[in-house]
Amino acid sequence: MSEKYETKAVTHGAEGVAHGAEACAAKAVRLDAADELAKSRELFALPDGVVYLDGNSLGALPRAVPGRLQDVAAREWGELLIRSWDESGWWTAPERIGDLISPIVGAAPGQIVVGDSTSVNIFKALVAAVRLAGNDRDEILVDATTFPTDGYLAESAARMTGRTLRPVRPEEVRDALGPRTAAVLLNHVDYRSGRLYDLPGLTAAVHEAGALAVWDLCHSAGALPVGLDEHSVDLAVGCTYKYLNGGPGSPAYLYVAARHQARFDSPLPGWTGHANPFGMTPEFTPADGATRGRVGTPDILSMLALETALGVWEGVGIDSVRAKSLALTDFFVECVRAYVPAGRVELVTPSAHVERGSQIALRCDDAGDVMRALIARGVVGDFRHPDVLRFGFTPLYVGFGDVERAARVLAEVL
Ligand SMILES: *Cc1c(COP(=O)(O)O)cnc(C)c1O
Repeated sequence: MSEKYETKAVTHGAEGVAHGAEACAAKAVRLDAADELAKSRELFALPDGVVYLDGNSLGALPRAVPGRLQDVAAREWGELLIRSWDESGWWTAPERIGDLISPIVGAAPGQIVVGDSTSVNIFKALVAAVRLAGNDRDEILVDATTFPTDGYLAESAARMTGRTLRPVRPEEVRDALGPRTAAVLLNHVDYRSGRLYDLPGLTAAVHEAGALAVWDLCHSAGALPVGLDEHSVDLAVGCTYKYLNGGPGSPAYLYVAARHQARFDSPLPGWTGHANPFGMTPEFTPADGATRGRVGTPDILSMLALETALGVWEGVGIDSVRAKSLALTDFFVECVRAYVPAGRVELVTPSAHVERGSQIALRCDDAGDVMRALIARGVVGDFRHPDVLRFGFTPLYVGFGDVERAARVLAEVL
């Protein structure tokens, strides 16, 4: 999708470049010294000399994970073999790990099940939402600017359920809602621009229209408070390899609000979501609770890597993560203003905190070449077609010194 972003010119402050640079370097030292989350960085294995600002694509490796994977492979699989489904807790891992994710996204236990990819969970959630909404509602709304997989799956979900899919821009959702709306699939944070949407307000508007809200939390879970229960979200999905650091392809999760669980009718009713999976009966009787969102045999190796990765959240509150995330992104913009020649980049991400996720996107000519040069100099962000530089800030392992260096190297490259 090629579209124009609303952007803001990034211009120098009144102090001038040299003074600004000195101020940034000194400020980074002060901010790092006062950072309560700084100690979490030791929990991650990050290569020396690298500033990693791509945790919104693939989170860094928590140090405890390789040892755990070794144990799972050698002992639980190699020695205990099939006994591990019970004795090592493999069978119940999807619910157990769901309950570890719950506090991070503001959900009481028993509403999140881990497994499958985000794409698959989007399909389950959206079809189930349409079924919950009833037969007299024939329209599904989807964010027209969404990550492509969400749009593809929404189209198929609409076709399968005989509904009409209506892509709308997030700011048009309120006007598009009506008595025909069955379900709305929205992103909490836009993956390109880093714009944070009003989950409480939009969920309330969807409910007022009598429809169900399905939220994709890929770019918000682990970076900012979501408040699934507090805001009465109906269904939600998210991935675990971005801000939750679960590892490449780690399983996603599905949230089914307790009030919907008894009527949640999955379009993928696999045997592990059955009330009595080992009864091997020909007819499907769904399990109670979020378990009915399960499909097939869980991918245990990546699931247990994720479980260990979630250990970095012990004693960490999402509010302090959000506070640091905002401080990091504010500081990055400040340093870019101080270092980068005026007019060379434009800010795509909103300045207002209530509209900002945990990334800064900058529009820039030759963005692909610029990002390649940055990565060659140890500053890893990513490039989104056609002209966006994307920098993700994971508060558990990114410090203010990293931010200052990233902005300085960006200026050198430009
Ligand atoms: C990362 C991301 C996905 C990824 O889906 P997979 O099935 O894990 O490949 C989906 N939607 C959004 C909005 C994302 O940011």
